[in-house]
Amino acid sequence: MNEPLIGVLALQGDVREHLAALEGAGARATPVRRPEELARVRGLVIPGGESTTISKLASAFGLLEPLRERVAAGMPAYGSCAGMIMLADKILDPRSGQETVGGIDMIVRRNAFGRQNESFEASVDVAGVPGGPVQGVFIRAPWVESIGAAAESLAEVDGHSVAVRQGRLLATAFHPELTGDHRVHRLFAEMVRAVD
Ligand code: GLN
Repeated sequence: MNEPLIGVLALQGDVREHLAALEGAGARATPVRRPEELARVRGLVIPGGESTTISKLASAFGLLEPLRERVAAGMPAYGSCAGMIMLADKILDPRSGQETVGGIDMIVRRNAFGRQNESFEASVDVAGVPGGPVQGVFIRAPWVESIGAAAESLAEVDGHSVAVRQGRLLATAFHPELTGDHRVHRLFAEMVRAVD
């Protein structure tokens, strides 16, 4: 079988870490900055970083509409942290002009865990990820404030959902790309392979 090419949206954020994690999970990966590059990939990761910056750059690079079209047409996508925010249909406290790609029927709250808790690690059981809990690295992370009927929560921390799947879309509030544990990326690579 031809291993499908997976893009990592390379406007801002921890792009290199996601490329390495995808390759560690046995996928083929490439950075995506332009619509022509987006057109060549069969799945896309939106990295952690700063969602307001990613949103502005996606508009400036002419990528926001093509991203929305690909996601609406069924391209698998995975967002970690800022990427989770980009895949949410709604943000509770957007910065002015902040737009999302959307696709997951959920409302997320940015920087939700509060100042004292800006960064922390927690062991997280993620439904669909075999082999026990993953180490969740949370950095100014969002949580899912509410989730629609079409989406499924895969994991919770302190009573809040921190991982969600809706069909071919996957989002985590934490950063598996920073831990060297490639199981979440493996799950996503399998979601991409399953499309053909
Ligand atoms: N707080 C950031 C945002 O709103 C997300 C942080 C992250 O991706 N580590 O985009």
